[in-house]
Amino acid sequence: MLDLTYDAPKPKVIAGAKEDWELVIGLEVHAQVATNAKLFSGASTEFGAEPNSNVAFVDAGMPGMLPVLNEECVAQAVRTGLGLKAAINLRCAFDRKNYFYPDLPQGYQISQLYHPIVGEGEVLVEMGDGTARVVRIERIHLEQDAGKSIHDMDPHMSFVDLNRTGVALMEIVSRPDIRGPEEAAAYVSKLRQIMRYLGTCDGNMQNGNLRADVNVSVCRPGDYEKYQETQDFSHLGTRCEIKNMNSLRFIQQAIEYEARRQIAIVEDGGKVDQETRLYDPDKGETRSMRSKEEAHDYRYFPDPDLLPLEIDQSWVDDIAGALPELPDQKKARFIADFGLSDYDASVLTAETDNAAYFEAVAGDAADGKLAANWVINELFGRLKKEDHDITESPVSPAQLAGIIKLIKADAISGKIAKDLFEIVYTEGGNPAEIVEARGMKQVTDTGAIETAVDEIIAANPAQVEKAKQNPKLAGWFVGQVMKATGGKANPKAVNQIVTAKLGL
Ligand code: ADP
Ligand code: MG
Repeated sequence: MLDLTYDAPKPKVIAGAKEDWELVIGLEVHAQVATNAKLFSGASTEFGAEPNSNVAFVDAGMPGMLPVLNEECVAQAVRTGLGLKAAINLRCAFDRKNYFYPDLPQGYQISQLYHPIVGEGEVLVEMGDGTARVVRIERIHLEQDAGKSIHDMDPHMSFVDLNRTGVALMEIVSRPDIRGPEEAAAYVSKLRQIMRYLGTCDGNMQNGNLRADVNVSVCRPGDYEKYQETQDFSHLGTRCEIKNMNSLRFIQQAIEYEARRQIAIVEDGGKVDQETRLYDPDKGETRSMRSKEEAHDYRYFPDPDLLPLEIDQSWVDDIAGALPELPDQKKARFIADFGLSDYDASVLTAETDNAAYFEAVAGDAADGKLAANWVINELFGRLKKEDHDITESPVSPAQLAGIIKLIKADAISGKIAKDLFEIVYTEGGNPAEIVEARGMKQVTDTGAIETAVDEIIAANPAQVEKAKQNPKLAGWFVGQVMKATGGKANPKAVNQIVTAKLGL
């Protein structure tokens, strides 16, 4: 029996049903390959170009045009496979999937049904509560994307934009190992994160760069375990496939709705029909698009224009040798080397740019925990206010490290550090020089603090009496001294001196 658990969360049980049901979910994720040119032509893949400006003759299905495989797309698929710990198939082939779409003028899509480029792999999907599950990848194949039909520009006509026609997609097919809506979203996020680390897909869901077909079924408690033991799908319920989801929130809503719909049908004595459905986010429901077609309906056959593809193991090894550090490894290293919490390490490794920034600060300031605090709480919070990401940060790692070093050297208090951060953020400059020039240095000179304490004690005899009765009131004096010194007095020193002078 395969071990899919890794402190695995309990499967999602649907509340409100008459009986107990569990969810079973498998995803087909379509990820646009990050390359300059299309899968079989030299036309550009640039997003947002003038309609029909990035179209080669072969993309337009002109007679006599032949596809030429783009090596970089193959390399990106191999990279993605390696990043998902998957087997790379050294021999793969392209097939024609025949159907008519106005935005795919060839009349067929070139895909890989029988011999995909990537075989079985796995993804560790972590949930916010610290639990995690391994989701198995069944395969990844390369295929062409279709263009866009536009129906809302004219009341009487439809338009077609072939810019996306023939752009390379990786279809990443999971096993039905996902057990709840949150897990499905976390799975897509994790794939996105890994591919962004690898540079194989931009993962921009709004642009349709990453979209998912979501397969949902429901089963009785215990049935999934039977499937797991035997890999026999007959233990699972009939699935419906919700097409083309490009939002994590909608994926979750659609799964919730679909599970309730299927449970209601079965509890009423009915049968779920296997079909393809669409999610309507305005109504919050899925509706039937078509009954499920089978592979043979598409009359798949090996594409006679393309020879089977043979890849050298040494080429794969070269790609493997050049892979960047991936999210799981980076996170584990941040926890081990910098003593970060699981949560902080997750936040800091969400994007490579964030991780690199943090590492630069932590290294320079020689303090991982303080660096994590400042990056996550102060810097990210401040950037978010202006909708900026880390690459637009006006504060450099060296500047932030400079602030942290001043705190560590007791040159400034935590409160002053926040003021200093704001100055550096808005005005720039060298933190140490700003502290000097603006007299922000913490007063650790005990003589100066003693004078301030003496003055306050002399001016407040009644408070002194009270504090002698109740030592907790010493805090009031500390507050007054801090006020008198503009927050610059070293709080530890003030505390000691107040306590001593009051004779507490
Ligand atoms: P197709 O290509 O016809 O869509 P596949 O067998 O490739 O069919 O499966 C597509 C997806 O459906 C896979 O991600 C798989 O994990 C998922 N899947 C298969 N059976 C079920 C099920 N009973 N419940 C949920 N998902 C399922
Ligand atoms: Mg499918």
